[in-house]
Amino acid sequence: MKIIKTVEQWKENYSLIKNYKIGFVPTMGGLHEGHTSLIRKSIEENQITVVSIYLNPTQFNDKNDLLTYPANFEDDCKILDKLNVDFVFAPTYDVIYPDNYKYVISEKEFSKLLCGATRPGHFDGVLTVVMKLFNIIKPNNAYFGEKDYQQYKLLEGLVKAFFLDVKLIPCPIIREDSGLALSSRNRKLSKEGIKIASKIHQIISSDNSLEDKENMLINAGFTIDYITQIEKRLYVAAFLEGVRLIDNVELK
Ligand code: AMP
Repeated sequence: MKIIKTVEQWKENYSLIKNYKIGFVPTMGGLHEGHTSLIRKSIEENQITVVSIYLNPTQFNDKNDLLTYPANFEDDCKILDKLNVDFVFAPTYDVIYPDNYKYVISEKEFSKLLCGATRPGHFDGVLTVVMKLFNIIKPNNAYFGEKDYQQYKLLEGLVKAFFLDVKLIPCPIIREDSGLALSSRNRKLSKEGIKIASKIHQIISSDNSLEDKENMLINAGFTIDYITQIEKRLYVAAFLEGVRLIDNVELK
């Protein structure tokens, strides 16, 4: 497994593998089974797999959330090495933002709803960094989790809007047996918090009305950011022990 830190280094390696099918999995580190499910799929479906680890500051509107993000580069590299990933792309801010974020990719509608409503600028940061990563890595296939369903739909729109030559592959949400969606941020919860957090999925996938689901979450101890149905999907973001958790389910 090769660790690549700069665009120039990637270009040298890319020139040797550009005729292979390249799968790409962008992450912010703090790897867990949710991430590894995407990586395994990429390894199955491509000849080369590249995983990026980049804690992208432009998508964090809360400084403390960024500073306390639970990721350890050495631990992540051990996991990736065991999986037989070919390349890890781990750039710094200066590598990704030579323009110091003067140029921004923005979407005007769906990005303003749900997570975009309470995290202003979040999706600008996501769309911009993913566009940059696609332009650098030039993958054939890129893998994204449905855990971040709004993000996935916005990236699907980005690919169409800018005629990007990459195929996006949505991957199912990986959950604990309790139903809790795996997330790097779960590491910030106490033992008791983990138990309570698993109620999110239990409640949102129950047969209750939207209003009842909201009240059940509040009674369980969550501070709701939003619980919203759009088309056939129910999206929720809620705080527990100061940690922001998101989940979504497809409604029947
Ligand atoms: P992140 O490191 O949080 O930016 O996530 C990197 C990728 O992993 C994104 O495409 C996420 O949607 C995906 N991901 C994170 N958690 C899960 C999960 N529990 N199940 C499936 N995909 C996930």
